[in-house]
Amino acid sequence: MNAHLAETGGKVRLYVEAALDAGARVEATEAQEHYLLHVMRARAGDRVSLFNGRDGEWLARVAEVTKRGCTFECDRQTRPQQGTLDLWLCFAPIKKTPADYLAQKATELGVSVLQPVITRRTIVSRVNVERMRANAIEAAEQSDRLTVPEVREPLPLDKLLAAWPADRRLLFCDEAGEASPIVEALRAAFGAWAVLTGPEGGFDLAERAAIRALPYVFPVSLGPRILRADTAALAALAVWQALVGDWR
Ligand code: SAM
Repeated sequence: MNAHLAETGGKVRLYVEAALDAGARVEATEAQEHYLLHVMRARAGDRVSLFNGRDGEWLARVAEVTKRGCTFECDRQTRPQQGTLDLWLCFAPIKKTPADYLAQKATELGVSVLQPVITRRTIVSRVNVERMRANAIEAAEQSDRLTVPEVREPLPLDKLLAAWPADRRLLFCDEAGEASPIVEALRAAFGAWAVLTGPEGGFDLAERAAIRALPYVFPVSLGPRILRADTAALAALAVWQALVGDWR
């Protein structure tokens, strides 16, 4: 039996789109209402924490619970909004590991953008971006983030590279060629970065040559073993966080 929210003392954090300010009233989404009323059995007066990626985190209370829905009323800011890390994950979606899993783990690891990339050997034909977004929001709520990563529509590799921002370096996880250890590429790193991983079958020769020819690309090795694409992505993100990001 689910204990009542107040009795559990559980901290419920919810991402909302609305502006947050003292006294502001915010409507719960249908999913939030279901979770609060039927899973956490919340009642009027119970406390929740709200964040929207812009105004920090606010303590709010369940102000109204009616058949039409649930309304929160903001009380006070408990955490100021902080700047977010600027780290993209560009990944070729793979069959075995749903993109949802990668969206959750990459969110916990602090990415700011999730960019599915379609390469010549990508087997996955469709990416459910809406589901990825929902997973990213849930992971942001659970991991105490104050932002939710932007989940973009899939792009073919050549389009992604053609529109690449000049000031962003790309860590190209390349298991197939002479690539320096990732630690070396990141040793004196600063500024905006992205990580790129391939599909189950890796990048083909033409793709690898095209990627390596670009000035902002740093081909890196993740060691002597061939990692699954999702393992490679999460390992590269973890090393980046440890050397450049907010794990220092
Ligand atoms: N080409 C191999 C194949 O056909 O199975 C491996 C592809 S691997 C499963 C998928 C992606 O993970 C690669 O494209 C690369 O981005 C990354 N990756 C896996 N192991 C790696 C390693 N040791 N170093 C760098 N990247 C790696």
